[in-house]
Amino acid sequence: MYSEAGKKQLLEMRESIADQYKKIKGFGLSLNMSRGVPSIDQIEIVKPMLDVINSDSSLVSDSNINCGLYGTMDGLPEAKKLFGDMMDVESDMVFVGGNSSLNMMFDAVGNMMYKSPYDDMPSWSQVEDRKFLCPVPGYDRHFAVTEYFGFQMINVPMRDDGPDMDIVDELVKDPAVKGIWCIPKYSNPTGVTYSDEVVRRFASLKPAAKDFRIFWDNAYAIHELTDEPDVLLSLWDECKKTGNVDLPLFFCSTSKVTFSGAGVAAMAGSDLNMKFFKSRYTLQTIGFDKINMLRHVRFFKNIDNMKDFMNLHKEHLKKRFDIVCDKLDKELVPLDLVKYKRPKGGYFVSVELLDGTAKRVVQLCKEAGVTLTGAGATYPYKNDPDDSNIRIAPSFPSTDDLAKAIDVFCYCVKIAAIETFSQ
Ligand code: PLP
Repeated sequence: MYSEAGKKQLLEMRESIADQYKKIKGFGLSLNMSRGVPSIDQIEIVKPMLDVINSDSSLVSDSNINCGLYGTMDGLPEAKKLFGDMMDVESDMVFVGGNSSLNMMFDAVGNMMYKSPYDDMPSWSQVEDRKFLCPVPGYDRHFAVTEYFGFQMINVPMRDDGPDMDIVDELVKDPAVKGIWCIPKYSNPTGVTYSDEVVRRFASLKPAAKDFRIFWDNAYAIHELTDEPDVLLSLWDECKKTGNVDLPLFFCSTSKVTFSGAGVAAMAGSDLNMKFFKSRYTLQTIGFDKINMLRHVRFFKNIDNMKDFMNLHKEHLKKRFDIVCDKLDKELVPLDLVKYKRPKGGYFVSVELLDGTAKRVVQLCKEAGVTLTGAGATYPYKNDPDDSNIRIAPSFPSTDDLAKAIDVFCYCVKIAAIETFSQ
């Protein structure tokens, strides 16, 4: 990746960069670019939602359900409609849960571990060499779930249009391969949206295992950073065409729309899948928090209003992403020290550095008072084989702090590269 001219230019700057880094270390900074969460300012934007329900409010929904009472396991019909629109599926296949989609994904894997939806198949736990496909770089908490349940995780490279589907096609011929993690829009961390062709290939997948499932985690379905949103083809529509309706499980939440940790999550799937998962949920709970569902549907009313509301988040996020990307473009791209794509949505900037330098950069940043997501975190077992990927999360710090933090990052990338070239 590296040009001789760039290398020469960088080595000539060696002393001034070292001096700058020394100076920065003396500032005693304490900055954090590791948290992929809305900032405090964004939470302020959402607070009016708390006034939608108060002690004067009726708790009876338009669908005539008293949200203060047990019952209605699937969730409020109005909420099913809202989340169906968010996941691009029909509302009657939606199950609205608690506050966390990750929780629902964990439960889905856990349920398949314990029991199969098919009478003639063993549960996943009975398949000793069970495997799960992990597009990389990807979301550390997905990988943590399948590691916990004892899957061998297999890396699948991410391309600019989604996971490498030739590799996926090959790997699913193994009946011990039981699933794949997908973040199809503004992927965590690459920002990639799967192309129509990739979505169609998922819908046409022919896994050897009848109980193979695509975990379609649409966490960033409406999380735009530009006025020209990527358009994700509906996997559900494509699966209906191919007849592969039991393949996908859909997930989403409002964790980065309303309140992180106090939003609403939902999942959806075919009749067979939802009957299976709901039969387990009826044992786990007498019903999820319908008052929070009611708060959400009264506040937003429909998906269009929800998308409009996301413009307020966009205003806040875009300037932060611009600070990071403009700096990378100015300081590192001309020296060939970074490869990345300016994301159009989501919460992360994923950078590819010189091989063998990511851990060193994280360490140098830490010593200068800037916390980054750990190197390797975007790979199963925290093992980035090239030690080159770092996930930057620009959403949380103030713009001033972010500008300082990304400055430090650029110095550290240069120092790590100089060290590599000097070896
Ligand atoms: N899925 C992805 C891809 C995420 O990036 C995140 C949070 O960062 C989650 C799920 C967590 O969602 P929830 O808060 O609904 O559990």
